[in-house]
Amino acid sequence: VVFNQKASNGCTKSSSPSTNISKTINLDQGDPTLFEPYWRKMGDKCTMVISASDSMSYFSDAGNLCWFLEPKLSDSIKNLHREIGNAKSNSRHIVVGTGSTQLYQAALYALSSSPDRTHPISVVSAAPYYSQYPEETDYLRSGLYKWAGDAYTFDKEEDGNTNYIEVVNSPSNPDGSIREAVVKRTGGKLIHDLAYYWPQYTPITCPADHDIMLFTFSKCTGHAGSRIGWALVKDTEVAKKMIKFIELNSIGVSKESQLRAAMILGTLSDNSYRNFNSNKPELNSIGVSKESQLRAEMILGKLSDNSYQNLNSNKPELNSMCVSKESQLRAAMILGKLSDNSYQNLNSNKPDNFFEYSQCLLAERWKKLREVVKRNQLLILPDYPLEYCNFTGKFTQSHPAFAWLQCKEEDVDCEKLIKAHKMMVRGGVRFGAEKKYVRVSMLSSEGVFNLFLQRLSAIKGNFN
Ligand code: PMP
Repeated sequence: VVFNQKASNGCTKSSSPSTNISKTINLDQGDPTLFEPYWRKMGDKCTMVISASDSMSYFSDAGNLCWFLEPKLSDSIKNLHREIGNAKSNSRHIVVGTGSTQLYQAALYALSSSPDRTHPISVVSAAPYYSQYPEETDYLRSGLYKWAGDAYTFDKEEDGNTNYIEVVNSPSNPDGSIREAVVKRTGGKLIHDLAYYWPQYTPITCPADHDIMLFTFSKCTGHAGSRIGWALVKDTEVAKKMIKFIELNSIGVSKESQLRAAMILGTLSDNSYRNFNSNKPELNSIGVSKESQLRAEMILGKLSDNSYQNLNSNKPELNSMCVSKESQLRAAMILGKLSDNSYQNLNSNKPDNFFEYSQCLLAERWKKLREVVKRNQLLILPDYPLEYCNFTGKFTQSHPAFAWLQCKEEDVDCEKLIKAHKMMVRGGVRFGAEKKYVRVSMLSSEGVFNLFLQRLSAIKGNFN
């Protein structure tokens, strides 16, 4: 585990806050580190103990169709959707995946793997689409499916196919818009990627009710490193095929990650932060991310470490021996942050409920960004309608996870322009759009976000 400046502030090289000023900042990936302060504030409320003898089997629930799904995770997911009202989860199969990235591929496989398939089915999504869809679809050059680009320009007759798969990503990454299927022809199959259909990003206007809906822990709570995603699937045969894919691809999904996700998601729909560790007297920190790797590292480490010969010594002693190194690293990180102004007062005046907190945080960021863009003569941001959110009971606007910036002038390569100011962003072409667009992550740590605003203001200076 590397608790260095890169992990905490997204800069490309380890450095002290004062030297960060000259480093390139990474706003390319949507790494959701902005939520870290909230979870840090939760302290031990979301900490769990997993002993070496726990969760060793491949199986989580042998009687369930998705036999590698932890029942606690299934319960937390259902409770959360019920509480938030963003998706119908009853009478659906829940398929857990190693991130929704794995579930996307499982869904493609499930929708295309008919024995009489003679050529690959076309996979489309409305541009600007999530830049990973083309790569994930074509990476293995499958004979079952192939990327066919923008759904708006897809002509299935010309393609010679009778059916197609359309991926509907709503709210959309990159531009935050609310989407619905655009091809709308018989024979079409839909995958709804609802990674950002959570109250912090967009008003929850109705419970989504589609055949295959993908969600991810990464964007719901910010725990991207746990690699947990889930699909809500109506059709049993489709669910079976998705499960088969995951069985062949990774024989299930890490139990440590599932249990941790179950606990954290459980706290979201339970304001009293019910104690998941009630039968575990000691609280422990399994790690900040990548639970399975950390656990494996710890257990394998002990096998080759003679100083741990006494395997039968009591648990607290073993726990404290294992934790000490991590505690030192964490303490170093936390103490380091005390002298970093950008981390001061992060939690002041912020609500306790995660969704209220994160909505407030993103709304603040968007307000600041809009002020900078308004002063700037070069760039434009999309506007989002005010809509009633059933979860908060208020009229709110979307505050997407990404800013879809557009250069006012035609023919400007916006990515080049912004990169020249030491900001890594993703250019519009990757999303099937023009080069005058760029996608910028709004999910970075506070320090990186502030540098982003400063540097964006400087671009304006150059063009006035
Ligand atoms: N879909 C969309 C639209 C995303 O933005 C992302 C993450 N960037 C994913 C899927 C994949 O998420 P995960 O971390 O669960 O693999």
